Amino acid sequence: MELIAVNSLRKVYGTQVDPVVALQDIHFAIEKGQFVAIVGPSGCGKSTLLKILVGLIPASQGEARLGGIAIAGPRRDIGVVFQSPVLFPWRTVLDNVLLPVDVQRLGRDKLKARAMNLLSLVGLQGFENRFPQELSGGMQQRAAMVRALIHDPTMLFMDEPFGALDAMTREQMNLQLQHVWLDRKETVLFITHSIPEAVFLADRVLVMTPRPGRIVDDVAVDLARPRSLDVMTTPDFGRHVKRIREHFKATGELAL
Ligand code: ADP
Ligand code: MG
Repeated sequence: MELIAVNSLRKVYGTQVDPVVALQDIHFAIEKGQFVAIVGPSGCGKSTLLKILVGLIPASQGEARLGGIAIAGPRRDIGVVFQSPVLFPWRTVLDNVLLPVDVQRLGRDKLKARAMNLLSLVGLQGFENRFPQELSGGMQQRAAMVRALIHDPTMLFMDEPFGALDAMTREQMNLQLQHVWLDRKETVLFITHSIPEAVFLADRVLVMTPRPGRIVDDVAVDLARPRSLDVMTTPDFGRHVKRIREHFKATGELAL
């Protein structure tokens, strides 16, 4: 079943005199349960696309549907993780994670067990009563991930969630995210400018060109799961990375 369907999407910022075409002719669909990554250089319109899909900004033309319904504004049945974890410093980890539960009045008692479960799935058991500032950047981002999953969203959207972390922490986060995904089988749209990260995580990688952003390739990644970090040294992994990198060779974008 198609969970997301995007058709002829276009986004223009600014005025008619001085327009910035951020997205042009975007078409794709995502099946339920798929992990899809979108990779592209900085400024190509990745965040713009994500903001349209989560209902934060309107498209200029075309449409996007989630579960068959046109996306017309923010929806509560999705989960979103941004580059910075945006946790409230005065709330404990558990209270941060339960924020959507409080806001949507879903019933704390019912969802506390789920919160504890998810926290332990990402290795944060024992940290539920700590405050964000007592946690490392990677731990904060894992807490933000749990918060995005707490209400059992229809779909999880992630915009460069590990972009601010150092390389080793980032690899650990990729392993954790795969672990969560294998356990929960959420539908995920994961945005990144790292080709290896996209190939490591995804079932499919959509490749975006520099502005105006278009999708120029759709690469199926058939590597067996669970994937260990060692997979990155295999010829199959290298083949996928090379195919994606070819799209950026001419412009020299997306240096890694
Ligand atoms: P990415 O996430 O791939 O780095 P963005 O979607 O943030 O790219 O931006 C795509 C292009 O649109 C960039 O050229 C950026 O400067 C422009 N842009 C983004 N947001 C706005 C805005 N609110 N007003 C005008 N231009 C914008
Ligand atoms: Mg961005």
